[in-house]
Amino acid sequence: MTILVFTDLDGTLLDHQTYSFSAAQPALSELRRRGVPLVLASSKTAAEIEPLHEQLDLGGAPMIVENGAACIWPQQTGVVQDTDYRTIRTVLSEAPESLRKCFSGFGDMSIDCVMAHTGLSVHSAQKARKRLYSEPGIWSGENDGLKDFLRYLQENGVSARQGGRFLTLSLGGTKAGQMHRIIDHYRADVTIALGDAPNDIEMIQAADFGVIIKNTHSAALPPMKGEENARIRRSILPGPQGWNAAVLAILDELDRQEV
Ligand SMILES: [Mg+2]
Repeated sequence: MTILVFTDLDGTLLDHQTYSFSAAQPALSELRRRGVPLVLASSKTAAEIEPLHEQLDLGGAPMIVENGAACIWPQQTGVVQDTDYRTIRTVLSEAPESLRKCFSGFGDMSIDCVMAHTGLSVHSAQKARKRLYSEPGIWSGENDGLKDFLRYLQENGVSARQGGRFLTLSLGGTKAGQMHRIIDHYRADVTIALGDAPNDIEMIQAADFGVIIKNTHSAALPPMKGEENARIRRSILPGPQGWNAAVLAILDELDRQEV
């Protein structure tokens, strides 16, 4: 049986406060022992995710970066192009001035400004700014103007998604879309997806086993279709502790099904 695991990072595999994954070590070792690929899926950039991919020793497993705007395979790193990003920046630069002046993307911000908006350190903010596929930013205008801005973007092939903090522009890739491509690549029989926030919902919904990781720092996710038959479940513990227990429990269930 080919199993694939997809996971969000912050607050899911990584502790919300310490960014440590050590509590998930038993499940991580078990996945490695079984040769199960672990796909990291995050709103972070490739530059931010790569060090973690290496630390976790994930071998050839791909990464879903910039909230699903792209999927990167380890052998590709260093050769990836910023064509999507440049397209988005061009569409922005050609927007009517009244709309353009109300949107401030990472590419318009100084490092200090990115740090202030994200709470990241200088080093991390520099990596967060190395965008290849999407542009997070802040809309500072009126709601009517925002409607015009979103219409302009759509007419020019750019998608916009409002997250917790940023309005993120991309050419339309999603976490779930990338996930389906990776499932096809591995010809996976069973998929497991774990996440803790609204932007993980589509990934959790698209998996055979979805896990909502307990989130201690914001409101719980609303009830989801699939929870009634335990296809989707909620962890009791937060972050990597919950991740560890959930992954081990699902592997155990799959073993028992196979017998
Ligand atoms: Mg998260």
